[in-house]
Formats: sequence, structure tokens, C-alpha cells
Amino acid sequence: MSCMLACHPVSPGNHAPGQAPGLERRSGYARPPVDLYEYQGKELFRRVGIPVSDGRLATSPQEAYKAAQELGGPVVVKAQVLVGGRGKAGGIKLADTPADAEARARDILGLDIRGHTVHRLWIEKASEIAKEYYLSLTFDRGARKPLFMLTTQGGIEIEEVAATSPDALVRLHVDPLEGFHPWQARRLVYGAGVEDPSEQKQIAAIIGKLYDAFTRFDAMLCEVNPLIVTPEGEVKALDSKFTVDDNALYRHPEIAEMRDTAAADPLEALAREKGVTYVKLDGEVGVLGNGAGLTMSTVDVVTFAGGRPANFCDLGGGGDAQGVVDALGVITRDPQVTAIFFNIFGGITRCDEVARGILQALGQMSIELPVVVRLDGTNAEEGRAILAEAAPANLHVSPTMLDAARRAVELAA
Ligand code: GDP
Ligand code: MN
Repeated sequence: MSCMLACHPVSPGNHAPGQAPGLERRSGYARPPVDLYEYQGKELFRRVGIPVSDGRLATSPQEAYKAAQELGGPVVVKAQVLVGGRGKAGGIKLADTPADAEARARDILGLDIRGHTVHRLWIEKASEIAKEYYLSLTFDRGARKPLFMLTTQGGIEIEEVAATSPDALVRLHVDPLEGFHPWQARRLVYGAGVEDPSEQKQIAAIIGKLYDAFTRFDAMLCEVNPLIVTPEGEVKALDSKFTVDDNALYRHPEIAEMRDTAAADPLEALAREKGVTYVKLDGEVGVLGNGAGLTMSTVDVVTFAGGRPANFCDLGGGGDAQGVVDALGVITRDPQVTAIFFNIFGGITRCDEVARGILQALGQMSIELPVVVRLDGTNAEEGRAILAEAAPANLHVSPTMLDAARRAVELAA
């Protein structure tokens, strides 16, 4: 089973969080594709010859000072988190001197950017920007082909360009069997209205190299926003969003290693340790289901009810007390969660067992958040009776998924 969650078929990889978590069911575990940090994506860009600025990784203000000193001249201090819109959130700052860089690093480290804590910084030689363009290559699942998009209206979110000036956004599919041809790059460049001949040449070359990167590293998305032109007329990638298909990781041990460092998100690391399948999302309703399909539907129904899911968490086939305790332990550690929605469909898993698991977990953990439980399937009535009898004040039981979702969304508000 392979499904995309909350993802438009030609989603250009906007800067949304939890972006395109293509959740692959594998032996009962949903696994997201590998989102790389900007600095990791830029390293892959560099390897295929896409121009990027020289930079250094830093995890402390002192390291930021040293990095700025080594690079020389003004630098930009950039929060490394797997979520876009860092600039607006205060995660990107220019610094003229090493002391400045140190101070900016102190501001940005530990900052919460839409639920992601900044633990590392990319210190890069500052660029002067004359123009900001946008270039991406992603899968168009509908067309079953990679899709290039280019516009000279970069720097802002691409959805905005697509909505307000769709004609400015040029799209071009590449037939994967025929491969990429240089005329396609020229078509994109002319189509987007790039007028300067030197820019045309540089961008066409970058387009070819982006296709190289996409195929060579088994990417699902390569996005450059912004692709800048400096006042001297040099074109380079100022940002990188790079997502690799996790099914291809066996071919790329160095990217598998990047993912391990990318998993430094403490919640996802904790989940991994406990064997809980967990993907952090951006909202307030903690979601817990049994089975990847049901859990994904739960995420959808929360959205449908007007709420925002805080995470994807799959209990798997189990639902024993320890599994429930572990999952709740991870979910309740996300400070954004204001209500929890348990969606259980009993098959082999019996609802009465899950009900006991939930009560045991609530007893052990003293959770004060409202918890909405929907039980259906095998022994659902027994399960609901067990919960009704114990009746903890913060526990709400609903027989249907939609009712439960509405309740959870209400309680989360
Ligand atoms: P995002 O906000 O997460 O997409 O992060 P970006 O890396 O795209 O940076 C956001 C914005 O910060 C860019 O669009 C630029 O306007 C600005 N910025 C980033 N790096 C530099 C730099 O080296 N020089 C200047 N002048 N601005 C920069
Ligand atoms: Mn960007």
C-alpha cells in the first residue's frame, strides 16, 4: 500500500510542515520519505554541480563565531529545521561580523519554528540578491512523470504564485523513459520569461543538473526557492528542499546516514526508541489509530471536521496497555497537543483490550488533556462499557468516527 497524505498530486513541495508524508506501509509500519535539511540538500546540489554558497554547520554560538571567522565577511545564520517559512519566523538572520553571528546564533538556537526546535545552524557566506526565482522538480503522480516548475516570481510560497499569477508558473513534464533533453531546459527558461542571455544559460544548466540530482539520489522532490541572481549576474541556489524516497535508501548509505541525523527531532527519536510509528504534524489534535490506513483516515477526518492533526501515530495491530502508554507518552510530549483522538477499529485487536489499555495508560500517566475515543469492530460494546464504567472525567466516548472527530476538534479549541 502506498498512499499520499494531504498531498495534492502535483504538490510542488510547498513549505508546509509534515509536507507530503508519503506513508509507506511496510510490515505494518508507516515510514515517511526522507526530508533532508537545507545544508544536506545543498551538499547534494554541490555534488551535481549546482552552485551554492560556501558554509559551515554550527550547533553552538561559539561554533557560529568560528564558522563566520573561517568564511570571512558577512554571513547568513540559518535555522536548520524540516519546515519552511523560516525567514518569516525569525530563523534566518544576516550577520556582518563573527561576534554578530554569535549573537544571532544565540537568538535562533532553541527557537521554536512551527513546532520544530532549532538545534543546528547553517552559517553561509551572505549573498547579495538582485532577483529571486523559483525552480522545482517533483513527481506528478497523476501524469506519472517528473514535473519541472519554474517562475521568476520566487522567494514567496509557490502556492501563492500558482493562485495569483498562474501564467507566470511554467510547468514541464519529463518522460522518465526518454529522460531529460536540453531543449526542455530552454523551453522552461523562455517560458518563464527569463530575458538575460547569461541567466538563461546558467539556469538551463542548473535545470539539467537538478534532473541529475533527482534521478541520481532517487529524490521525490528537489526545490530551490529562491534561486537567486546576484547583482553580478551569478545564478545560485539559496535554499534547498530535498526529499528522498526511503525505498531507495539501500542504494544511498550516505543519505541513510543523513536521515539518522535528521531524526534528531527529540519526539521522533523517542518514538523510534519505543517502537511507535509517529510522524509529527503541525496541528493540535493528537491522533492515534490502529493500522496505517485507519490512522491516515483519522488525520483526514480531523481536517474535515475543521481541526488540525498534531501527528500521525499508528499503534499497529496491537493496542495492549504498554503500546498505548508508549504512544501516549510520545503524543503528550508535544506541547501543541490540546486534545487526543483515539480511533480504534477492532479486528484481531479486541476493543475491550484496547479499552483496558487506555484506562491503564490514563491511570499510569495522569493525563489531563481531553481524550476522545471511538471504538468499533470486535467487542466494541464491551469496550465502550468498560470505559463508561470507569468514566474518567476527561474521557469522551463516541460511536462514530465523524462524531468523535468533531468532539476532539471542539475540545482542542
Ligand atoms: P525559508 O524562509 O525557510 O524558505 O528560507 P530561505 O533560505 O528561502 O530564506 C528566506 C529568505 O531569506 C530568502 O528568500 C532571502 O530573501 C533571505 N536570505 C536568505 N539567505 C540570504 C542571503 O545570503 N542574503 C540575503 N540578502 N538574504 C538572504
Ligand atoms: Mn526558501
